[in-house]
Amino acid sequence: MASHIVGYPRMGPKRELKFALESFWDGKISADELQKVAMDLRSSIWNRMAEAGIKYIPSNTFSLYDQVLDNTAMLGAVPPRYGWNGGEIGLDVYFSMARGNASVPAMEMTKWFDTNYHYIVPELGPDVKFSYASHKAVDEYKEAKALGIDTVPVLIGPVSYLLLSKPAKGVEKSFSLLSLIGKILPIYREVVAELKAAGATWIQFDEPTLVLDLESHQLKAFTDAYSELAPSLSGLNVLIETYFADVPAETYKTVTSLKGITGFGYDLVRGTKTLDLIKSGFPSDKYLFAGVVDGRNIWANDLASSLSTLQALEGIVGKDKLVVSTSCSLLHTAVDLVNETKLDKELKSWLAFAAQKIVEVNALAKALAGLKDEAFFASNATAHASRKSSPRVTNEEVQKAAAALKGSDHRRATNVSARLDAQQKKLSLPILPTTTIGSFPQTMDLRRVRREYKAKKISEDDYVKSIKEEINKVVKLQEELDIDVLVHGEPERNDMVEYFGEQLSGFAFTVNGWVQSYGSRCVKPPIIYGDVSRPKAMTVFWSSMAQSMTKRPMKGMLTGPVTILNWSFVRNDQPRHETCYQIALAIKDEVEDLEKAGITVIQIDEAALREGLPLRKSEQSFYLDWAVHSFRITNCGVQDTTQIHTHMCYSNFNDIIHSIINMDADVITIENSRSDEKLLSVFREGVKYGAGIGPGVYDIHSPRIPSSEEIADRINKMLAVLESNILWVNPDCGLKTRKYNEVKPALSNMVEAAKLIRTQL
Ligand code: GLN
Ligand code: ZN
Repeated sequence: MASHIVGYPRMGPKRELKFALESFWDGKISADELQKVAMDLRSSIWNRMAEAGIKYIPSNTFSLYDQVLDNTAMLGAVPPRYGWNGGEIGLDVYFSMARGNASVPAMEMTKWFDTNYHYIVPELGPDVKFSYASHKAVDEYKEAKALGIDTVPVLIGPVSYLLLSKPAKGVEKSFSLLSLIGKILPIYREVVAELKAAGATWIQFDEPTLVLDLESHQLKAFTDAYSELAPSLSGLNVLIETYFADVPAETYKTVTSLKGITGFGYDLVRGTKTLDLIKSGFPSDKYLFAGVVDGRNIWANDLASSLSTLQALEGIVGKDKLVVSTSCSLLHTAVDLVNETKLDKELKSWLAFAAQKIVEVNALAKALAGLKDEAFFASNATAHASRKSSPRVTNEEVQKAAAALKGSDHRRATNVSARLDAQQKKLSLPILPTTTIGSFPQTMDLRRVRREYKAKKISEDDYVKSIKEEINKVVKLQEELDIDVLVHGEPERNDMVEYFGEQLSGFAFTVNGWVQSYGSRCVKPPIIYGDVSRPKAMTVFWSSMAQSMTKRPMKGMLTGPVTILNWSFVRNDQPRHETCYQIALAIKDEVEDLEKAGITVIQIDEAALREGLPLRKSEQSFYLDWAVHSFRITNCGVQDTTQIHTHMCYSNFNDIIHSIINMDADVITIENSRSDEKLLSVFREGVKYGAGIGPGVYDIHSPRIPSSEEIADRINKMLAVLESNILWVNPDCGLKTRKYNEVKPALSNMVEAAKLIRTQL
């Protein structure tokens, strides 16, 4: 019975690791106490898999911060600014790289493929002196062994490690990261030798970059690296693990002919094309680790359908060479369904978190071995049947409305420059209008009020009164600051997706369904389980209340359909775009209700539009088409005089700029904190942009207060590239996480800078 798990969440079922890490960083617990929490978590994870009957149990997938950073530590690739003097890397150097310290900023963090997990990007240059500086992989293997569990140690494969790195500062553009392969392989060899000596019989190299569009020299790097490693790997079974997409046909050929490899792991949930590749040929003496249980979602596996896939595969690779596995590490799903006290029984029967997924993997492996647990399969089938036929899932009306959208385009009738003219007649804004992105600081008091209302400790009247006071305070402050287009500050929202999800049909919320985002940070995505509809207006009450407090335009504030989709666990029983269109229709109703209520400027945030971009180029235009279309659906019905804003939390969209223009918003505000250059270069290169645009003039992620000169300077830089009549002046993003004593002077300087430049135009 061969079952395997690619990796497991490390936060713990109740975020035990998060709390231990944060206490340690605050100096409230010692390093030993932190390590004790970590060790207990590891042993409970290993024991759970062992008890479930999993044969190939991973080790070294646990991490105090990030698995890529662990690999960096293993290779001793510490950037010089952290002052590391050799020897085994300790917690101080490790956490300095992850989070920075009083004198040195952290290493860069970036998204792990198309997940919401972020890894610490290795910084490598030609002079890095690699050395074996963290024995974590071997230590954890031994730790599990001492518990009586023989594990498969997992390392980031050497080629993916380099492909996921960036050249250190000051290194010439021509420097090739892959040229370092000869320097890191000796360290991998040392690790492998130690693992062998400790008794390991398998090793797993995660090489997820194999699912990307690789150039031929990159593919060749895999062939070369593994040929070079092969002699040191002998005597060990080696698994090459890929995930997050299918493997391109050309890559598949290369991978399956790598030297010294015993088995290949594929994501068969997202990589349905890989299935065809395997069917058309798989090396005869190798193991196939078939990732049929979805590591990216929270749905119970369709066991009957997986079993038939596996049986077909068995016919190709042979009975003794097929291993049942997860599609990727379970890091990207929630931890344990048993802690969900608020979900009803029916909904729960449709779900499987990490702890349940390992049971599914094992059940499938047992079934293949002729030991099918009939009762388990039967209850799974019942759950699937109930999900399929449940009236909670299907809403005929919504299905019809969404289907009616197919093939049609949705676009405002008038072009953007004519619209801007009409809006300006109505709004009479000064040149370089000032605004903010939406949220104002969320104080402890404010959070308490929301919590108490939710727990029914205060009445609705008291709640409304408190929020009204807060809005009033924010409105008055903006008037004093002389901001042109106001916001209500979003005091009633705890999260920009959750707030809408809670009011829409088809969404469910967990109590403990946390997923690691980075370090100790976790997110709790809503679960979209059914057709989405809007029973009643969601924001009109607060927005009209706010508008009634001022003569200045008050922005209505909504989260866009693509962002709601990308930040949720989505249905797997219909394509993503169908769910997105449904959300778009719900938001469209909200937009139109806001307009009816007299709101003339409406911002529809698409903070996460870029996040959903598929990994492979061949799939990107389809995504961008329906994502942009969904956004346009939300506001295609408004009058020319209603000004539609959108906001994005990143500036690297050189590659998708045409899609962004195609969203046809009247004004777009963009995060731009760290580099004006990246963003402005798009326009310098001559992209025609006629809509309003507000590249953030200061970084809201830092407590630093920018001076008005500094802001004026940035505005001037923007004016060198963008016409003054389309430029807006605003911060980077919402001010939710900042304090009032930072926000007030910063915004005051921002307005001062805008006014100064107005006089110079
Ligand atoms: N309107 C939201 C806010 O200001 C936008 C947040 C975001 O872009 N992430 O908080
Ligand atoms: Zn933002």
